[in-house]
Amino acid sequence: MKRVSILGSTGSIGTQTLDVISHHPGRFAVEALAGGQNVPLLVEQAKRFRPKKVSVASKELAAEIKGQLPSGTEVLYGEEGLIEAAAGTEADYVVTAIVGSLGLRPTLAAIEAGKAIGLANKETLVSAGHLVTELAQKRGVKLLPIDSEHSAIFQCLNGEDLSRIRKITLTASGGSFRDRTRAELTHVTVEDALKHPNWSMGAKITIDSATMVNKGLEVIEAHWLFGASYDDIEVIIHPESIVHSFVEFVDHSIIAQLGNPDMRVPIQYALTYPDRLHTPTKPLDLTELGKLHFRKMDFSRFPCLKMAFDSGRSGGTATTVFNAANEVAVARFLQGEIRFLQIEEIIYETLAAHQATANPSLDEIIEADAWARQRAEAWKSL
Ligand code: NAD
Ligand code: MG
Repeated sequence: MKRVSILGSTGSIGTQTLDVISHHPGRFAVEALAGGQNVPLLVEQAKRFRPKKVSVASKELAAEIKGQLPSGTEVLYGEEGLIEAAAGTEADYVVTAIVGSLGLRPTLAAIEAGKAIGLANKETLVSAGHLVTELAQKRGVKLLPIDSEHSAIFQCLNGEDLSRIRKITLTASGGSFRDRTRAELTHVTVEDALKHPNWSMGAKITIDSATMVNKGLEVIEAHWLFGASYDDIEVIIHPESIVHSFVEFVDHSIIAQLGNPDMRVPIQYALTYPDRLHTPTKPLDLTELGKLHFRKMDFSRFPCLKMAFDSGRSGGTATTVFNAANEVAVARFLQGEIRFLQIEEIIYETLAAHQATANPSLDEIIEADAWARQRAEAWKSL
């Protein structure tokens, strides 16, 4: 029996993780659930999965949820609650499915406590990849990718010698505005941006897909997870999201992982690795599809991807700032304070004003993250 804690259990990845768990009775026990604001769903999940600890975003929500949980459930809140849900239970496995660099300290705490990580929260690796990977190595903790592209690469690399990789290729669907020109992006609405063609995901990552920031975060995530240099990571557009990513080796053999787009497959593989179990997902029939399409990435159409590569190559706090500026910019776009194309302006201007620190400590990361947030918040609107 695997004992699991889920940070962000009420979100897109969190609910799908619980769905995977519910398909395999007797295999998993849920030790802790942490969510943000969605009290009714957390209560429902707690009644069903009987975690020992439940955490919510604030003290007020903790007071609200207390009386509604099964007796004996401990209620926690805030960042300390997330850290306790991550590290202060009997769980041997933690799924990090909250959004943003808020996940950093809880993830580090879980690793420090020796728990394996099912990693969805990519912003953590972007913000402080060296701290997370160094600590995981030191503590002998596995970081199992949930992101579909990284799960694909992880599967392609199974048993391979990493020094024999020639190139890692991440596929990108292109997001909701894939077929629009830059001129057509000037006045797009929040509603348009939230319509992803292939995946149903949380709001922040859906916007990140439209700006191509998501693929930028994934490039940096791949750098840290697989130790690949930025010169050996490539991104191409693949509108169907069937080939989830691939690896080319020095002999020019390419190994790819394919499947219909359904996050329950990579979530389950991260949970059951190295085993594979049945899933209730739709099998892929290539003859039914007939054709798949691939095209070159256009960095002038998607400048955020270029900024991600540049900040990855600069290293240190540059990626912390890239991530934090984007988090604020996306939140401001979702609130109607800025236009779509201003997301990239905010990231660009925040990065340009930043003096990156190499090999930063946790305190320096937290400081750079706060500085970037403040600057991105202060950026003029509309
Ligand atoms: P989501 O917005 O659907 O869910 C986020 C979760 O975090 C929710 O449970 C929410 O309640 C919780 N949360 C928010 N603020 C919180 C706070 N202050 N304290 C505690 N909990 C808080 O997001 P998602 O789409 O599930 O994405 C989660 C992570 O997984 C992101 O890092 C995303 O990039 C990554 N990811 C998601 C997908 C996907 O298909 N959704 C795919 C790959 C990677
Ligand atoms: Mg992905």
